[in-house]
Amino acid sequence: MYRRGHIGLSLLILSPFINTLGLEFVALSVFFSIIPDLDVRLGIRHRGITHNITFAAFLTVVLCYILYIFDLEIFLSFSAFVGIVLHLIGDLITHQKFAPLYPFVRRRIAFKIVKSNNRFVNDLLLLAGTLTFTYFYIFAKC
Ligand SMILES: [Zn+2]
Repeated sequence: MYRRGHIGLSLLILSPFINTLGLEFVALSVFFSIIPDLDVRLGIRHRGITHNITFAAFLTVVLCYILYIFDLEIFLSFSAFVGIVLHLIGDLITHQKFAPLYPFVRRRIAFKIVKSNNRFVNDLLLLAGTLTFTYFYIFAKC
C-alpha cells in the first residue's frame, strides 16, 4: 500500500474516536503509519525489520522516553504503536508477504486482496479517510 493509502486507512479507522483520543493522538498515529515504509528509502529489506509489532513496541518506548524528557503527555506514545499496527493491517491486504508478529510468529503472511500499487484503492482510502476525519472533527463536534 502506498503512503496515501496508509494515511487514509489511519484516518478512516481513528477519526470516529477523535473526541476520545484527541487530535494530537490521531495526528501522531497518522504520522507513524507511514514510518515503516522508510525501509525503502533507507535501502534495507522492504517489509522486514520495520514491519512487525516489535518495531511498533520499540518506537513506542522511544517516543515514551522522549515525551517523558520533555514533560509531555506519555499517553501519546501509544500513537506510535497504533499507527504502525494500522500500517501492518494496510499491508496485510496486499500481496507481498511479511511477518507482522515477528519474532513471536515468524510466519510471513499476506491476504492478497489488492495490489499495493492499486491506485483506485489507495485513492479511495485517502478520500474515505479525509471525509471521515472531516465529519468527525468538524461536523460531529456541533
Ligand atoms: Zn509497508
